[in-house]
This record gives sequence, structure tokens and C-alpha cells, in this order.
Amino acid sequence: MTLNISSKIKLAVKGEGRESTLIRIGDAVIGGGKVAVIAGPCTVESREQMIEAASAVKAAGASMLRGGAFKPRTLPYSFQGLGLEGLKILAEAREETGLPVVTEVMAPEEVAVVEEYADVLQIGARNAQNYPLLKRVGKAQKPVLLKRGLASTIEEWLSAAEYILHGGNADVVLCERGIRGYGRLTRFTLDLAAVPIVKEVSHLPVVVDPSHSTGVRSLVKPMSKAAVAAGADGLIVEVHPHPDEALCDGAQSLRPRDFETLMDELGPVARSVGRGL
Ligand code: PEP
Ligand code: MN
Repeated sequence: MTLNISSKIKLAVKGEGRESTLIRIGDAVIGGGKVAVIAGPCTVESREQMIEAASAVKAAGASMLRGGAFKPRTLPYSFQGLGLEGLKILAEAREETGLPVVTEVMAPEEVAVVEEYADVLQIGARNAQNYPLLKRVGKAQKPVLLKRGLASTIEEWLSAAEYILHGGNADVVLCERGIRGYGRLTRFTLDLAAVPIVKEVSHLPVVVDPSHSTGVRSLVKPMSKAAVAAGADGLIVEVHPHPDEALCDGAQSLRPRDFETLMDELGPVARSVGRGL
């Protein structure tokens, strides 16, 4: 029995000369023999917070840095991010650590400025079917990390990737970040089967976000290990130097020392599936 994916999806699926796509971002590679770990706070809050987080994740062995400057918040009353100032802080954190930066872009008209500062453009779950935005990042010169929509099927997610590839941008990383479930104990439901499914039908690399998919700090480590065991090409993990003071997503953010332990424990899991860290 093989997976019966829609034949209307052309570019995001495997085909002649498209078996497995490697994406190089500075010294980092997503989709190769090594599991790429992207880590950092949910949101850039200040220069001090971001530099502290960046140094900590670098020391623990992360290969890329995350942090939101333009934040998609459920309510207008919540902290919306530092915008351009946040992008500048991210560029400074890259300068300090040498780690490439992944950050979200929410609107087509903001792509140019985000591209100027970031190494990877993140499309958030809430924008996973924002077609003008997908078309615009299809014309961007930087790789795109495409989150799965909150309630997207795998085919809808690959169809969103299709927009970016069709636009001419070949560097798309898929990100499984949990889908809407019905439990109250986790924020979303991590669909881990999506990882081997994507690896089977698509040539694009897939990373897992154990932070947003669970919403619970204690679940981040086990789900990260499970994701790597399932064949994920990488992880994107929220790490905050002081999660209790975080302006966003503190409850799911690892402390730097938890992140260090996670990195230590991931090595053997990666090796057990023929990969390294
Ligand atoms: C994020 O990564 O900070 C984020 C908002 O994620 P998602 O779009 O998956 O909710
Ligand atoms: Mn977050």
C-alpha cells in the first residue's frame, strides 16, 4: 500500500531529479545527514534577552537561531513584536554567534525588509494559506520555513509549498507544528506521522516544532526525541533565558540548561536513525 497523494501537486513531490532537497544556510544545512536544531525565544523582547538566548543556544550546539520580530498574536492586546528594531537585534545576535537567523514574515509588503535582515523567512501557521504572501516569498531570494496550517491536511500544506516553488523559490523547509485537536492538556496535537509521510512523498526537508505543538515545557524533550527518531531533518525549539518573564510562550520555552540536556540526549537518538547532530 503506497500513499496516494493528489497528482495535482507537481513540484513539492518527488520526481525525476527531485529525490531529496538540501538547503544550505550559511554553515547550516537542512536535509542532510545531520539534524539541524533551530533554537531561540518565541519573540525578540530586547537586545539583552536576545543576545543571552543566542549565546546560550550556540553554546549548547544549535545550528540556527529563531526569534520573532513580527508576531501573529491571537489578540490585539498582546505584545506584537518589536518589528524593524527586532530584526536589527536578530542581525546583531547573528553577528555575535555566527548563527543564521529564522524569523517570521506576516505580510507581502514586509518581505523585502525581513529578507534584508533574516537568513530564512518563516511563514507562520496562521498564514499557511495566505496566497498573496506565499506568492511573494516564492519570489524571495532567501529560503522559506513553511509551517503547517492550524488545521491543514498534509496535501494542503504541500500545496502551500507548491505556491512557493512555483514562484521560483526552490528552498522550502516544511515545518510540522501540530494541528488542532480536542485535548485541553496540550495546545495542539503533534502529528508525528506527518514526518515519515512527507519524507516518503516529498523531496523537501521537514522539521518539527515541539514547542507550539505541545505548549508545555515538559513535553518538548520527549517530542523532540520522537521527531528525530521519526526521521525529522531538524527541530525548531523555543528557548528563553528567563521563561517566567517571557512576553510570549514562556510556558513552552525551555531554559538554557534544559536545552543543553536536550542536545545531549538527542545525539544518541539521531545516531540510532543513521544521523548526527
Ligand atoms: C512561532 O514560531 O513563533 C509561531 C507563532 O508559530 P506558529 O505559526 O506555528 O504558531
Ligand atoms: Mn511562540
